[in-house]
Amino acid sequence: MSELAPYAAREDNSRGRRIAEDAPSERSQFQRDRDRIVHSTAFRRLEYKTQVFVNHEGDLFRTRLTHSIEVAQIARSIARALNVNEDLAEAVSLSHDLGHTPFGHAGQDALNECMREFGGFEHNLQSLRTVDVLEERYGDFDGLNLTFETREGILKHCSLTRARELGELGRRFIERTQPTLEAQICNLADEIAYNNHDVDDGLRSGLISLEQLGEVPIFARFRLEVANLYPQIAGRRLIHETVRRMINAQVVDLVAETRRRLADAAPRSIADVRAGPILVAYSDAMRAEQLALKQFLRDQLYRHYQVLRMTAKARRIIAELFDTFLNDPRLLPPQYQTMAGEDKPRAIADYIAGMTDRYAMREHRRLFAVGEI
Ligand code: MG
Repeated sequence: MSELAPYAAREDNSRGRRIAEDAPSERSQFQRDRDRIVHSTAFRRLEYKTQVFVNHEGDLFRTRLTHSIEVAQIARSIARALNVNEDLAEAVSLSHDLGHTPFGHAGQDALNECMREFGGFEHNLQSLRTVDVLEERYGDFDGLNLTFETREGILKHCSLTRARELGELGRRFIERTQPTLEAQICNLADEIAYNNHDVDDGLRSGLISLEQLGEVPIFARFRLEVANLYPQIAGRRLIHETVRRMINAQVVDLVAETRRRLADAAPRSIADVRAGPILVAYSDAMRAEQLALKQFLRDQLYRHYQVLRMTAKARRIIAELFDTFLNDPRLLPPQYQTMAGEDKPRAIADYIAGMTDRYAMREHRRLFAVGEI
């Protein structure tokens, strides 16, 4: 790695860990964060959590795990191009979805609804709670005791009320300052990853077609380029050649626009980055193309009746599990009964949020299907 830019996150400008620990030997503090995330239970659960398609719907669809790995790949490329900290970008990418419920956004919306009178549920905050509190791996502390910068990157947004409760980590939402460049990069790498893999998964599932995608400017542009280069190309190869060009174009545009903004703002330190405007961004033209793609996916894929049937079922499963446990916490596994002694709804939300898709379905069957145990 060439020398980091003066405004990159580094160990020597890190705000450190909540509980002081000896410096790691042979690796950086941010590598240590990444390593702790990879070894966590919550990380392994991502393999069986839905991104858009429920895990059992097909082996080739993205899961939260493969999504997170794709985000890390994109974020690392951008971080390296901009001479900022790749290890931090990787740690944030791999942990950004740890707090997701089973069944994707439908699951989070359902759990948020269940928790409405009890402080709500938000997957971003739950990712932070997972690494700060819920993981049980160390003798000296709860959670993973990650650096401030990784935790700051995980917490992409939060309400002002929540921000006040979070102390130093919440301060930027009150003062309206920015997180590190690495966190800003992960935010957009997430978007680049899911927009493009949802096109791929959407086509694979047959829920959207190449013809429909013809109305999406960025897809049409690169599909034409591919057709001109390879007149005989069709099927999977056509889709992959098109999607990889879209990802590349978005990354290249993002790096160029961010360099331009960096040159304008001329930050000299991480403090300047935090105090300044958002620096990681697309050009206006690419932003417009991204929005058109997003809107297409929302209308044609996320609101496709077959997806909505799945999300309706997911909502019912989550709501029924929550109500059952709230009415009779004795049905919870013992460790959650102990936690429920302090805050019953939150302990139930933690239990449900930690479930994989298939675990939630199994638990629902165990509680509701006559003849099952
Ligand atoms: Mg994500």
